[in-house]
Amino acid sequence: MTEEIKAEEKKSLNFLEEIVEADLAAGKYQSIMTRFPPEPNGYLHIGHASSICLNFGLSLKYGGGTNLRFDDTNPVTEETEYVDGIKKDIQWLGFEWANELYASDYFEQLYEYAVTLIKKELAYVDDSTSEEIAEQKGTPTQPGRRNHYAERTVEENLRLFEEMRQGKYRDGEKVLRAKINMSAPNMIMRDPILYRIKHAHHHRTGDRWAIYPMYDFAHGQSDSIEHITHSICTMEFVPHREVYDWLIGKLEIYPSHQYEFARRNLSHTLTSKRKLLQLVNEKYVSGWDDPRMPTIAGLRRRGYTPESIRDYCERIGVGKRDNMVDAGVLEFCAREHLNKIALRRMVVFDPLKVVLTNYEGTGEHLHSENNPEDPDGGTRALSFSNELYIERDDFMEEAPKKYFRLAPGKQVRLKSAYIIQCDEVVKDASGNIIQLNCSYFANSKSGEDTSGIHVKGTLHWVNANDCFPIRVNEYDRLFTVEDPANAEGDFTDYINKDSLKIIGQAFAEPALKTAGPEERFQFLRKGYFTLDPGSTPEQMIFNRTVTLKDSWAKAGK
Ligand code: ATP
Ligand code: MG
Repeated sequence: MTEEIKAEEKKSLNFLEEIVEADLAAGKYQSIMTRFPPEPNGYLHIGHASSICLNFGLSLKYGGGTNLRFDDTNPVTEETEYVDGIKKDIQWLGFEWANELYASDYFEQLYEYAVTLIKKELAYVDDSTSEEIAEQKGTPTQPGRRNHYAERTVEENLRLFEEMRQGKYRDGEKVLRAKINMSAPNMIMRDPILYRIKHAHHHRTGDRWAIYPMYDFAHGQSDSIEHITHSICTMEFVPHREVYDWLIGKLEIYPSHQYEFARRNLSHTLTSKRKLLQLVNEKYVSGWDDPRMPTIAGLRRRGYTPESIRDYCERIGVGKRDNMVDAGVLEFCAREHLNKIALRRMVVFDPLKVVLTNYEGTGEHLHSENNPEDPDGGTRALSFSNELYIERDDFMEEAPKKYFRLAPGKQVRLKSAYIIQCDEVVKDASGNIIQLNCSYFANSKSGEDTSGIHVKGTLHWVNANDCFPIRVNEYDRLFTVEDPANAEGDFTDYINKDSLKIIGQAFAEPALKTAGPEERFQFLRKGYFTLDPGSTPEQMIFNRTVTLKDSWAKAGK
C-alpha cells in the first residue's frame, strides 16, 4: 500500500514540502517525524482526510514516521468507540502510523513540566473566576493587568498545585497559569491557563486525575516528548505558536516546530464533529456512517474508495487560505477511480416487460465485458430468453424524432445481445402499458452482427426468468446550500429532504448475487453502487456512490 501511495506523488511541491526539503538540505534533520492528533470526540471526516494525507504523505515522501496521537485531554467528550473508529478509518485510507500514542499517557510528565515552570517562577495558581480572568485580560487594544495571586511564592504554588491534583478543590476554583506577559499584543500570551480542575472520568485514566492540561500546555509538550520535527495544524492555531515556542523554550525540551495550513471544507455538507454529532443525535441521519455523512465511515459505506479520497486530497492541495471545495470535486474523483475498477452490471429499476415473439432459444448464454476500461477485466455470462425487462422510461409511445430508445416500430440494441424492434404495445383495461411485444434480429448478435441495421440507442435489460429483486438506496447531497454552517438560521433548516430515495424493488442480473463488501459496481446507465453492510442474502441492498455524470452542475444548483 505504501508503495502505491508513493506512486501518487505529484510534480510541484507544496509549501510544507518546501519547508521540509529546506530543513533536510540544511542538515537540520536526517528524517522527519509528523503526527496526526485527533481528539477522540467523534468520527473522522473529509477535512481530517486532508490532514492525514498531508502528515502521512510527508513522512512517506521524506523518510521518518507519523505518530497517531489521540489528543485526549478533555475527559468529558471523549470515548473509546471514537478511538477505535479513528484507527479503522486511517488504516482504511491506507496509512500506517509509527506509534499509537495518547496525550493522556503524558499526564504525569506534563505535571512534572508544570512543576518545573512553577519552580522557575513561570507559573502560578490563580483563584480568580473565569469571568475575572477574562476581565483582567484586557482587550486587543488595552493591556491586561496581573492580579495579586501572581505574587504567590514558589512554595505556595507548589502546595496549591499539588492539592489541585489531589482533588481538594472544586471545578473552577483554581487554575494554573503561565506567567508570561499581561500586556503582550498577542492576547493568548497574557498568562494563559495551563491546567484546570475537572472532576470527571477519563476514558483511559479513569478517576486518577482531578486536573487536566489545556490544549496549549498539552500539545506542544506532547510533540516535544515524541520528537516531532514538523507539527502541522490548521490556521486557527497561528496565534498559539508563540505560546508553543515559549513553553518549549522555558522548559528547555526538544524543539518541535509548529506550521499551519488552511482548513479544507467541502460544500453542501459540514466539517465539524460537533455539528455532525448533532445530526446523529437528532436522527437526521442513521448514524456516523450514514452514507450521506462526510465522515470517512460514511464515505466508505457510500462506496467511495480510499484511492478516490487520497486523490481528492491531492487535487485540492495544501494552502494558507481557508477554502471551500465544491462537492463536485470529490464526486469527480470517485467517478475517475470507479470507472477504472467498477464491474459493469445491469439492473432495471422500474421494469417494463418485453416479450420477444420470434425468439425460440432456450438457455442461450451471451457474454458481456466486466469492465471495458480494464483489459484484464474478463467477461461474464448473461442468460437470454424471450421474456425480458427493460426500464419503463426507455420506452415512449409517442416519441419525438430524436428519441433513440424504444418506441412503436423503432429498433434499439439490447446491451451485449440483439437488436429488437417494438411491434405491439399491450395495455391493461385502464390503458396502462403492461408489455411490449417485440421481434429480435437473429443475425444482430453483439460482436457478430451481420444484420446491417444501424441503431443509435443501447438499452440495459435483465432476463425476466433469472433476475432477482434488490433494494437500491439513491443518495444525494445532504444539504441544499453550499455552506450550511454559515447560512442564515440553523443548518438543519437546509437539510435536503430528497437526499435519500429508496427503490424498494429493482431487478438485477444474477451475477450480482455474489457481490461482497466494498466491491464496486457500475449499474449500466445508472451510476456507481456498492453493497450496503446491512444487506442479507435474502435482501441485498445497494448504495449509490455517485451518478455517472454530474447532475448538479447541469441543474445549476
Ligand atoms: P472538528 O471541528 O471537526 O472537531 P478539529 O480540528 O477540532 O475538528 P481534531 O480532532 O482536533 O478536530 O483534528 C485533528 C487534526 O485534523 C487537527 O490537526 C486539525 O487541524 C485537522 N483538521 C480538522 N478539520 C480539518 C479540515 N477541515 N481541514 C484540514 N484539517 C483539518
Ligand atoms: Mg480540535
